[in-house]
Amino acid sequence: MEDCIFCKIINGEIPCVKVYETEKVLAFDDINPMAPVHVVIIPKEHIPTLMDVTQGKTDVLDAIFLAAQEVARIKGIDKRGFRTIVNCNKEGGQLIFHLHMHVLGGKKLRDVLN
Ligand code: 5GP
Ligand code: ZN
Repeated sequence: MEDCIFCKIINGEIPCVKVYETEKVLAFDDINPMAPVHVVIIPKEHIPTLMDVTQGKTDVLDAIFLAAQEVARIKGIDKRGFRTIVNCNKEGGQLIFHLHMHVLGGKKLRDVLN
């Protein structure tokens, strides 16, 4: 989709530090990391938010969660532990309206999210 930063990363218009890729998803280091490990996983299909994932099209969620496992292994945090976050819409803190999952780790994360 035009004017979508994450679509531009997928088509190579904007560079990224790639961590993992499949037919359905791309994972790359966040440009503004909030933890020693901070990876963003995006579907290659432009889906604006979690609310746009409909019955019968949930295979994208399987792909994202399985990619999170692989990212955790690649980054060496699978056993230590990590956190996955999907921000949705304005009050959820979503800034980029292309569905994505954050994978955070590499340190003890705070217990409370705000
Ligand atoms: P959101 O707040 O929408 O859940 O998170 C968007 C994330 O994308 C932020 O953590 C932000 O740092 C990251 N981000 C924004 N633009 C870019 C970019 O051009 N490259 C990379 N690698 N990450 C980006
Ligand atoms: Zn997009």
